[in-house]
Amino acid sequence: MNGPYRGRFAPSPTGPLHQGSLVAALASWLDARAHFGKWLIRIEDIDPPRERSGIAAQQIQVLQALGMSADEPVLFQSTRCEAYQGALRELRRTQRVFCCICTRADLALTNKASSRRYPGTCRQRGFAGTGAIRFRVNAATIGFEDRACGYFGQNIEDCVGDFVIRRADGLWAYQLAVVVDDAFQQITHVVRGADLLDNTPRQIALQHALGLPTPRYLHVPLVLDAAGRKLSKQTHAPAVDPRNAVAELEQAWQHLGFSPTGARSVEGFQQQAVARWREKWRLLAPPEPEGAPAGTNKSP
Ligand SMILES: [Zn+2]
Repeated sequence: MNGPYRGRFAPSPTGPLHQGSLVAALASWLDARAHFGKWLIRIEDIDPPRERSGIAAQQIQVLQALGMSADEPVLFQSTRCEAYQGALRELRRTQRVFCCICTRADLALTNKASSRRYPGTCRQRGFAGTGAIRFRVNAATIGFEDRACGYFGQNIEDCVGDFVIRRADGLWAYQLAVVVDDAFQQITHVVRGADLLDNTPRQIALQHALGLPTPRYLHVPLVLDAAGRKLSKQTHAPAVDPRNAVAELEQAWQHLGFSPTGARSVEGFQQQAVARWREKWRLLAPPEPEGAPAGTNKSP
């Protein structure tokens, strides 16, 4: 990647932050600070039926109470429809999209119960009429080197098929919005939960089709509840309590595989955590002043 480090945390305003989202927020914040980079917040508010008013502001406040403030104004995806429209025009021009009028019931009939692959029913329909808009994928494996998980490759055609970039109800799909906005915000490093690992090849396919750069990716372990489910609003994960900032941070930190810092303040936690994050990922020490002896802490 070219350019200085730019990372982001991108929550959906569907419920208060919980430990699962905090782990992703903290990892992305630490990685940005450890690289002496910028850390941004993007609110992924493109699904109004699932959203609750006031939640985005509350999420931003809680992050702030935990010592994580965005270095630039927060970007709201609800303001970005024109950009998504522009991306769609480009994909239409290069004939990478088509309209799909399949209903859920149609897809259930053509698919085995366990598969969620789109069978390509409407591929030949072109861009006429209404329905969902799907991205036509190539029969090639798209792979990338995840910083934590190593190589991950996926043949999207076999696993997912042509995927939706705009829903039949007119709402933009996550895959398109995230790709357009990562490029718009010049994100160089994406750090997020491992549930998105298998979404990444789809995002890379869209980046290629739109001529956009591919950031580096780091997927961190998910927080699961006692039943092995990902923490979420649906599983009634408790909200992060900003009055216990240090305890909440320590819990997320230990989930990332570190031993407790024992810090008593948010600032104390940050100092130790950034230093240890830098050590773990073998990141360069801060630039030394002119004339100082050469450091030994160099990346291999
Ligand atoms: Zn269809």
